[in-house]
Order: sequence, then structure tokens, then C-alpha cells
Amino acid sequence: MAEKRDYYEVLGVGRNATDEEIKKAYRKKAIQYHPDKNPGDKAAEEKFKEAAEAYDVLSNKEKRAKYDQFGHAGLEGQAGPDFSGGFGNLNDILRDLFGGSFGGFGGFGGFGGDSRQGSEQRVYRGRDIRVRVRLTLDEIAKGTEKEIQIERNVPCPDCSGKGAKNSSDIKTCPSCKGTGQIRRVVNSFFGQTVSYSTCQQCNGEGKIITNPCHTCSGTGLVRKRETVRVRIPAGVEDGMQLTMRGQGHCAKNNGINGDLLIVINEIEDPEIKRDGNNLTYTKIISVPEAILGATVEIPCLDGRYNVKVEPGTQSGTVMRLKGKGLPSVNGYGTGDMYVKFIVYIPKKLSREEKEMMEKLAGSDTFRANSAKEDKSFFDRLREMF
Ligand SMILES: [Zn+2]
Ligand SMILES: [Zn+2]
Repeated sequence: MAEKRDYYEVLGVGRNATDEEIKKAYRKKAIQYHPDKNPGDKAAEEKFKEAAEAYDVLSNKEKRAKYDQFGHAGLEGQAGPDFSGGFGNLNDILRDLFGGSFGGFGGFGGFGGDSRQGSEQRVYRGRDIRVRVRLTLDEIAKGTEKEIQIERNVPCPDCSGKGAKNSSDIKTCPSCKGTGQIRRVVNSFFGQTVSYSTCQQCNGEGKIITNPCHTCSGTGLVRKRETVRVRIPAGVEDGMQLTMRGQGHCAKNNGINGDLLIVINEIEDPEIKRDGNNLTYTKIISVPEAILGATVEIPCLDGRYNVKVEPGTQSGTVMRLKGKGLPSVNGYGTGDMYVKFIVYIPKKLSREEKEMMEKLAGSDTFRANSAKEDKSFFDRLREMF
């Protein structure tokens, strides 16, 4: 391989070029040497890769600093995007740079290395479908299966996704000769410049359908209502997204399917609150129960449990029910349930009850000052949430 060219030279920018200038310069080169526009042109492909490599380094603060200081040697083993898997990584860079608009002339999905031959086989990628699934805490605890209705673009059954019933009805676009691009050579004072624009006649498709399929109006796709069964693992959280590869919209010309994205919506439980994999529940107990002790029922996700309230339980005391929380979604461990006891103080008393309370008020045991001598009371205060 020939000596590597200077990255700044490759992009045609100065050493002090700003990030914006570098981006602009690369965008220009990428468009100019894009394989879609230069089918079969090895030299253009090399230039395209060279520009991508230069951009990869110069757009990265760290790599650029190393390159500035040590040249190519400073980047040994880490320079350049990885081309080993075709254009995989490059696609990401281009997508960053051009956003969705790039698909307009590139056909991103089809740009996957060797699979593409010239511009004949343009491969499309279907859009993703995003759906929300509402789940109760109970369903989240156990994991569940849901049937969801989606409307999906699927290949037209009448033309098998081609857009025309007979292949003789699909012709190579005469304007662009199937490339989807119109090449213009302009001779000017500065020499020859070549510019490209999307072919107007075929909209960049490279093909023209002379007799479109009636069912799909030549798009190759029809809308279909489908029911999809989705398995939702236990422990998912609100806002989490599950991906079902290839279950999204189909693409025209039997391209790559989009994905089905399932967004989890947790239906808030009126009583049990969630904190990660742990659950919290507030149990109201009576004054006599707090003082004398009692057995109370706690609703857990796997059933109701009887729990013993110790005599002398303070309002705010928290009890941990080990393993009664939610399983973690990655399968490691289970959360706990924390039960907070709140003592209900009645507002209205009968005369009889009032007299009993007044009697107790005179007793030393019921003075608030006694709390200071109750060490365990302060210990419990610390556990409160
Ligand atoms: Zn059709
Ligand atoms: Zn055309």
C-alpha cells in the first residue's frame, strides 16, 4: 500500500480548520466519491475510504491531537474506521453526518459492502414500528405475554413487492441509466468540476415502472393488520424498550425489515409503589395495635402475607420483607418489599374514650419525654423513609 496521505490534505482543509470546516469538507468528499455515484470505480472507493478515515481522526479531539503531534505513527492501530465488516461502521459515521437525508440518494440499507452490485440492487430498510404496552405491577413481577395489534407494510401479494406484475414493466431509467444520479460536468476557469443530483425522472430509484401494480400503486407494499405475540420478561421498568428485530415495516423491493420497538408503560399501582426492584407499601395500624402488637395482612405481589406487628411499634417504623420485591430484568436477584407502619390517631372520641385518654395522659409512660429514654425509638427513626 502506498504511503498514507496527510489527513488535512485528504480533506483539503488547513491545520487550524474548525470542527465545522472539517465536517463540511468531509461531507463534500463523501458525496463526491460515494460508491453509489461511482459504481464499480475502485479509485473513487479508495478516496471515499480515505476521506472517511481522515474524518474519523480529525473529528475526534483526542485522535486529532495525537495525529497533530505524531502524525500517522501516533495513531498506529487505532486510526480509521473499521472497514472489516464492509461499510458497517462507515454507515454510522455517514448517518451522523447526513442524518436521514442521506438515505435519499444512498439507500443506506443497501450500502452493506459486497452485497451491493452497481446500483441495480438498491436495498431498502423498512421503518421501525413503536408500540406502547401497558403493564400492571403484577404482570411485571411475573413476566407476561401480550398480543398486540400493529399495522405493518408488507410486500404486496399481487406483485411480490416489485411494484409491477411483470418484470417487463420495470425498466431501467433512461435519464440516469439506472444510477439514480445525474452527473454534470462543468468546465470552468478552475478546471473541470463534477456535480451530481438526484435523477428527477426516477426519483433516484434508477428504475421506472411503466405499468404499476394496481394493488399497491407501484410501491410494492400494502398495509396489513397483524397480531404479534410479545414475550415480556419479568422485572421490566417504565420507559424500557424491547426490540423485536425484523418485526417492523417491510421495505420495498424485499429489502430489510425494520424493527418492532415495544415501549413499556407501567400502570401505577394505587397502593404499592416501586423503587427500582424494591417495593414500598404503607400500612396503617391503630393505636391499640401499635401499643399491644397485632397480626396484620400485607398485600404482596405473590399473595397476601400475615405480618406480626411488635408491641410498642412506633409510627413510621419500616419492616423489610426480603425477596418480596420484583425480580431484576437481567435475572440476577430479587428486590425486597418495605412496609412502613403509620399509626392512625383518631380525631373524634366518645366521652368515654376521652376520659380513658385523659386518664392515660396523667401516666408517666405516656409522656412524650419518655421517648428520650427509649433508645430503640431513635434507632427506628433512622430507618424511616
Ligand atoms: Zn403490488
Ligand atoms: Zn433515473
